[in-house]
Amino acid sequence: MSLCLRGVTAGYGRSMVLRDVSITVPDGSVVAVIGANGAGKTSLLRVASGLMAPQAGWIRLDGENLTGRPVCDFAKAGICHVPEGRAVFPGLSVRDNLRVFSPARRERESIDRAITLFPRLGERLGQIAGTMSGGEQQMLALARAYLCDCKVILLDELSMGLAPKLVDVIFESISRLRGENVGVVVVEQYVDRVLAIADYVYVMSRGRVGFAGDPGEFADNDLFQQYLGAGV
Ligand code: ATP
Repeated sequence: MSLCLRGVTAGYGRSMVLRDVSITVPDGSVVAVIGANGAGKTSLLRVASGLMAPQAGWIRLDGENLTGRPVCDFAKAGICHVPEGRAVFPGLSVRDNLRVFSPARRERESIDRAITLFPRLGERLGQIAGTMSGGEQQMLALARAYLCDCKVILLDELSMGLAPKLVDVIFESISRLRGENVGVVVVEQYVDRVLAIADYVYVMSRGRVGFAGDPGEFADNDLFQQYLGAGV
């Protein structure tokens, strides 16, 4: 089962920034969405999480039609969106950040699960989240998304503004979600890095899907230059 967007057209006011976009996110897969600045990647995630309603097309999760439903229905159905920026409560400890997103009455088990996947957080449970490094905060944002028992996680530029060493940590953290039976959509500027961990890639070009398929196929031929040469 999976998240499916079909024929999505969406925009802001009269200006359409997504045109006839279709993507599929199978369970347990990492799907990369790449493209030049302004291509529509963030808007696509906004549609997929219910923050933005499409003018045409539909969104289904495991066959359930979510099109036109309020954003909370998308979250309840199992779609978790980690937007750009630090998506943590900076004044709360790491433990409390994790607790807030744990399913009711399963806090301890959930926190243990998060620590197993992200051991670095286990060393810092008592630390105030806002005092951690940018990379550690992003790891916490990822762990929180993982904990809420969602079916799909949408990650918007998690590595934005991080030092290269921390970018490594973030990509390693994303690849750990593999095999956790959750679909992950990754919007990233670090094209080579995201292609290396993705099962599928969608390349956005001016609001449309210009390429959809195997990351190796995309990286190995002229398509890379054609779609991203000047833009990344
Ligand atoms: P980037 O890589 O630069 O973040 P992106 O591929 O994520 O870009 P979007 O942020 O989805 O692209 O933007 C697509 C288009 O929609 C751009 O032309 C942008 O200016 C426009 N846009 C985005 N947000 C709004 C908004 N709130 N109101 C009006 N136009 C918007």
